Amino acid sequence: MSGIQKYDYVSRDSIPSRLIDPISNLPLVNPVELPCAHIFSKQPLVERLAENAFCPTCRHQCDENDIDSITERLFILMLEDLTVRCTNNKAGSGCTWTGPRKDLANHLTPDCPFDSIPCDLATSGCTWTGDRQNLQTHLATCGFVQIDCQHKSLECRWTGQRQHPDNHLKTCDFVTVHCSESLEGCPWEGLRSTLSNHLSTCNFVKIPCEYAELGGSQMCLHKDKRMLMENHVERCNYRIVVSAARGILAIQQQQMEGLQRSLRAEIEEVRTTSNSLFGMHRLLAQVERLKERVVGRVDGLTQRDVHVLQTIAEDAESVLLRDVLMPGNFPSLGEASQNHQIAASQEGQGENPIS
Ligand SMILES: [Zn+2]
Ligand SMILES: [Zn+2]
Ligand SMILES: [Zn+2]
Ligand SMILES: [Zn+2]
Ligand SMILES: [Zn+2]
Ligand SMILES: [Zn+2]
Repeated sequence: MSGIQKYDYVSRDSIPSRLIDPISNLPLVNPVELPCAHIFSKQPLVERLAENAFCPTCRHQCDENDIDSITERLFILMLEDLTVRCTNNKAGSGCTWTGPRKDLANHLTPDCPFDSIPCDLATSGCTWTGDRQNLQTHLATCGFVQIDCQHKSLECRWTGQRQHPDNHLKTCDFVTVHCSESLEGCPWEGLRSTLSNHLSTCNFVKIPCEYAELGGSQMCLHKDKRMLMENHVERCNYRIVVSAARGILAIQQQQMEGLQRSLRAEIEEVRTTSNSLFGMHRLLAQVERLKERVVGRVDGLTQRDVHVLQTIAEDAESVLLRDVLMPGNFPSLGEASQNHQIAASQEGQGENPIS
């Protein structure tokens, strides 16, 4: 019966009887005709024929297969143009719309302000339903609407469902907050993002004494507001103990450094000495090799030549030794051998070579 009941006709009494369904006594909806030419609304007739297989008006025998749709355009238009009220007109209150029956569906959706509808965000979880006219009011507070943080202008980039901003605002960096020590008297307020910076210098924050712990052991247990701590530290027993200990440590360190310095000097001396000895050994070896070379080439030399050369070699040896032990201000090895060569060439002329 729903197809018929949903219409609320204006001036029901003045509607011509040929447009009325004899079963429901309401204007025809989906009119159909039986072979006996009687006309009914389709749905009530189908229901009736299922119980009694004859025409409700003339009792002519028939069944559902005998039903014929009426398609005559003018007849259909007369029915569809019957004036109805909006179905959301409840006993005179509610929607005041009236119009042709064929327009009612279009009026209800999407126009009728009294039509009961779910929230636009029903799929997101909102369970609100209400008159269409109240939807905008609802959406203005609906917890499922996606919104920006109210501090977007301060560059907060948060977006989320409206029902969550209370959570977000609890942590939003762009909310202006008081110092967490405001009850202690700190007047500071600023963006939450700068609070921790402030707290690191806030005079009202309680901090431990700087001698609270030393070398892993607990010392001074005193805590106080930062602005009062300086006072305490001046009188803190641990500070006195610690500064005495530090003085002793400093003296010990100086002594250690003195010891290290003299030790380093001694090491340096030993190193220099051993270098000289090593140099001397090396030069002596060179001198030995020089002597061998000179003596090994005696062919064509006179006895005297050999003697001179040996003298040169010995002189060279002594000069080398002297250079190592007392460097500076003495003729070099080259100069010494030159002198001997001159002397040899003067003394040795005309003598026989060694055979
Ligand atoms: Zn009939
Ligand atoms: Zn309406
Ligand atoms: Zn909603
Ligand atoms: Zn925010
Ligand atoms: Zn503060
Ligand atoms: Zn202390």
